Amino acid sequence: MDLAEFEYSGIKIQGYSEGGIRTSIIWPNLDLAFDMGNTYPGQTRYKNLLLTHSHLDHFAGVPYYISQRSLQRLQPPNIYYPKEIHNDLAELFKIYSRLEDFEYKVNLIPMELGKRLELNKQYSFAAHKTFHRVPSQGYTVYETKVKLKPEYADLNQSEIVKLKERGTEISQKIIEPVFSFSGDTKIEYVLEHEDVRKSKVLFLECTYLDEKKDVEHTRLWGHTHLFEIAEHAEKFENERLILLHFSPRYSYKFIREQVQKKLPKYLWDRVEFFFPAKHSAKK
Ligand SMILES: [Zn+2]
Ligand SMILES: [Zn+2]
Repeated sequence: MDLAEFEYSGIKIQGYSEGGIRTSIIWPNLDLAFDMGNTYPGQTRYKNLLLTHSHLDHFAGVPYYISQRSLQRLQPPNIYYPKEIHNDLAELFKIYSRLEDFEYKVNLIPMELGKRLELNKQYSFAAHKTFHRVPSQGYTVYETKVKLKPEYADLNQSEIVKLKERGTEISQKIIEPVFSFSGDTKIEYVLEHEDVRKSKVLFLECTYLDEKKDVEHTRLWGHTHLFEIAEHAEKFENERLILLHFSPRYSYKFIREQVQKKLPKYLWDRVEFFFPAKHSAKK
């Protein structure tokens, strides 16, 4: 399968996304997957799965993922999801386990919105509310950095060593949003969450692009329209904006032309498409 690949500032992402068909995002270095609309060989190796919602184009691969990890005696996966769907998920996986006649080993973790959970010393993540037709949430990954306190920023190495020897606390922890993934949502996901707008990298759904499927239709189905991204262009503070989840009705060529035409240049310059590698060039 020809995967999409994205790399920027140490953030390496793979996967694929077609609106209504399948969406799966993987961050291999963090052992992290976002949604699992399908499966391909190797995808089951990642231990943490962050689910945005239960529509099958984001979810169909999940029972297979748990089943494979159980069969291969890999560590039970950690699956995070909106807390409203907990009972249904628990029941669903119990039924699959019964049908397959072996134990499904899995850690089911309903998320509290806005509460950060640690992945490791450097990275953590939190769920933020999205606006879709079923219970849903997007995810933001945060990086914890240790930086010199501003008042010591101008000191040279030997002055810093002296302060350290005296036991002065010269550094502080800073927690920055580095990556957000929207799943399926109306534009409010961007408008209502500062951490999403400030994420260094934002993966944002953009299901519809033209007048044939207009803004009203798009909002009715709980999605984001290109015209809304254009309308709010100045609110995006992201260094990279990756658009995905386009309706399969559009060709790669049409998507590129339409996005370039509708977005102001300062935002277009930061845009990338999450297309299979051979189609991903911007021009
Ligand atoms: Zn979808
Ligand atoms: Zn959906």
